[in-house]
Amino acid sequence: MSCTFLSSFIVNPDRKILSTLSLSASLDGNFIISTMAPSLHPLVDNGITQGDASFSGGKLRCLCTANQVEVSLASNVVHNHVCGCSKCWKPAGALLSLIAVIPKDKLSVTANSDKLEIVDSSAAIQRYACKECGTHLYGRIEKDHPFHGLDFVHVELSDSQGWQEPQFAAFVSSIIEQGFAPEGMGEVRSKLKSVGLESYDALSPPLMDAIATWTAKRSGKLPA
Ligand SMILES: [Zn+2]
Ligand SMILES: [Zn+2]
Repeated sequence: MSCTFLSSFIVNPDRKILSTLSLSASLDGNFIISTMAPSLHPLVDNGITQGDASFSGGKLRCLCTANQVEVSLASNVVHNHVCGCSKCWKPAGALLSLIAVIPKDKLSVTANSDKLEIVDSSAAIQRYACKECGTHLYGRIEKDHPFHGLDFVHVELSDSQGWQEPQFAAFVSSIIEQGFAPEGMGEVRSKLKSVGLESYDALSPPLMDAIATWTAKRSGKLPA
C-alpha cells in the first residue's frame, strides 16, 4: 500500500468513514492506519433522541425519488437497537444499522408493493427490499422461530418523530467481518457507551433469555 494511495483516502471528503483515518509511523517504518471517531450511524453519532411513549406509528418510505415503496406502521416499535451484522440494511457510510421490531399485524405495505423483492429467501428473516434503491422496507420470519410474528423495520425511513430510541448495540464485533480494523473496536464501543448504548456481540441479555426460554419450552426442559 503506497503513501499516495493512503493520502487519497484522507483527502477524499466523500468517504465518510475513511476520511477519519489517521496515519502514524511504527518503529519499523511501516505506516499504521488507525480510526478516529468512526461514523456509527447518523442517528447515534451526535447523541440519541428519546422516543415518545404515546407515539402511535407512522409511515416508512424507500429512498427512491419517485414512486416510493411505502410501509405503514400502526404502533410504535420495540427493541430498537443498532446492529453490526452484515445482513441488516444500513445507510451509506454508517458502520451500524438501526433496527427494531413490531408485531406483523401492525405492518402493511401501502404503496408500490410491486417494487419489493426478497433479498435472500433462504435466510431466517425474509428481508423485503426495494428493487430500485435497495432499501430494506421490512423483514418477516415465516418459519418456526422465537421471533415469529414480529417484523423487523428501520424507523429512520420515516419522517415522523417519536419512534422508540435505540436501546442497545447488537453484534458489534461483526463489523470486523465486514472489514473494520479490529484495533478500532475499543473506540467504537466507547463511543456507543458515551451515547448510552451497551455493546453486545449477540443480542441483549433479555432477548437472548427470550430465545433460550423458547428453545427450552420446545425441548421440554421448561414447562410450555
Ligand atoms: Zn426504492
Ligand atoms: Zn443485524
